[in-house]
Amino acid sequence: MEELIRKLEQLEQVSTRLEPTPTERETYNHQVTAFAAKFIQRLATDTAFEENQHLASDFSISGKEKSMTELLDIYHKDVVHKGLKPASGGHVAYIPGGGIYTAALGDYLADITNEYAGMFYASPGAVTIENSLIDWMKSVFGFPETAVGNLSSGGSIANLIALTAARDKHGIKSEKIKSSVIYLSEQVHHCINKAIRIIGLEDVIIRYVPLDDRSKMRADVLQQLIIQDKDEGLNPFLVIASAGTTDTGAIDPLRLIGEIAEQHGLWYHVDGAYGGFFILVDEKKSDFDGIQMADSLVIDPHKGLFLPYGTGAVLVKDAKSVYHSHHYVANYMQDAYAQNIPVNPADVSPELTKHFRGLRMWLPLQLHGLKPFVACLEEKLVLTEYFRRRLSDIGFELGPEPELSVSYYWYPTQDRDENEFNKELMARIHKDGSVFLSSTTLNGKFVIRMAILSFRTKKATIDRAIDMIIRCLSDMGVDVPQTSIEKQI
Ligand SMILES: *Cc1c(COP(=O)(O)O)cnc(C)c1O
Repeated sequence: MEELIRKLEQLEQVSTRLEPTPTERETYNHQVTAFAAKFIQRLATDTAFEENQHLASDFSISGKEKSMTELLDIYHKDVVHKGLKPASGGHVAYIPGGGIYTAALGDYLADITNEYAGMFYASPGAVTIENSLIDWMKSVFGFPETAVGNLSSGGSIANLIALTAARDKHGIKSEKIKSSVIYLSEQVHHCINKAIRIIGLEDVIIRYVPLDDRSKMRADVLQQLIIQDKDEGLNPFLVIASAGTTDTGAIDPLRLIGEIAEQHGLWYHVDGAYGGFFILVDEKKSDFDGIQMADSLVIDPHKGLFLPYGTGAVLVKDAKSVYHSHHYVANYMQDAYAQNIPVNPADVSPELTKHFRGLRMWLPLQLHGLKPFVACLEEKLVLTEYFRRRLSDIGFELGPEPELSVSYYWYPTQDRDENEFNKELMARIHKDGSVFLSSTTLNGKFVIRMAILSFRTKKATIDRAIDMIIRCLSDMGVDVPQTSIEKQI
């Protein structure tokens, strides 16, 4: 016994290092918050993209202690300074991420208190916070109170949960797979294609519904395809629409598709991961009409609510279809089910133990109220318009008027191959890095893309982008007329 006690004393001396003393905590906190402050301060002037991918630091786990100073130095040099910088307002490519400060404070508290947010029994408060957020989103998108929902790690898992529910509701398994049909557009996010494979539906029939000239799904053709497939004895069961496609920001005709889905008894899924929260902007509301008809809906608070990466959301009307795959009572969990309780996050998601990701969303929404979020979304729409006008002033051709904040443009050429010219311009823009833009190919045409969604993107960012583009054009021997540079809107 004595020996046992001596051994414990020895071990405790070492193991308690995992609980820093108040003084150590203070030092760490100071170092980390000072780092964060400097980082945020520099964002306004730093480049948004660093093309150099070479990492000089040693990231390997040696098992030895290192100082916070040394580690922050590595983090600064080879993490936050390499690749693209999603926290920068100058990230105007892909679909930008967020990273509002108060969300980080929510994460800090969630990690320190380490609430178990998977089961009501374990943390009624944490689960109620998450369910309150789900309830709020149900009201925003016109979903009934009886719908269930989940805060996932992102849109990909949220889509996976929704499509699993659709599969289970319609019992698409074994012999039914080969005759069942899913309708979607070529513009759906690729995580939908991944989800279809993951949930065992790789062999269903996928019908790509043609798009109109605004890249929206053609509801009239959808109707024809379904009728044709039914006539041939197939089993149409799911249609997937986008409320804001990744490529062009197009919103499919949500009401028309909803009516067709209803008429034919199909599950109606809407992916609003990028665009969904624009419904909060009054003048955009009507564009989302019909979203409330969806059986399941995905939205990404780490996009449209400017949260740091790691928060997506799914809403599903038919709770039973979600429980079919995700609700499982193991014997060792019996205490947790002893009472009649609200929805457990663990019953509507593949995750059991999960990060308490609700706090990073709940805290900012409560601290700031909704107004600044809505203003920020509206600001992105106005900035998109501002960017387009300035591009047009310096000679760019613009893609169609965007519905949201994704749009594209290209520089027309007379004597040079247009695609080659714009490719080179893109490469120069990436090398410059002041503002990060991306490209896409639409019907064989290489175009430069803007996607404005970062809460830190402001008018000054767009002015910086225009200056950069003029610089790059000038390096390519194109002189932008001085008058158009000076012309202010
Ligand atoms: C970003 C996005 C996704 C994928 O979501 P993640 O959060 O990246 O997993 C799905 N659909 C659309 C429309 C998106 O914009």
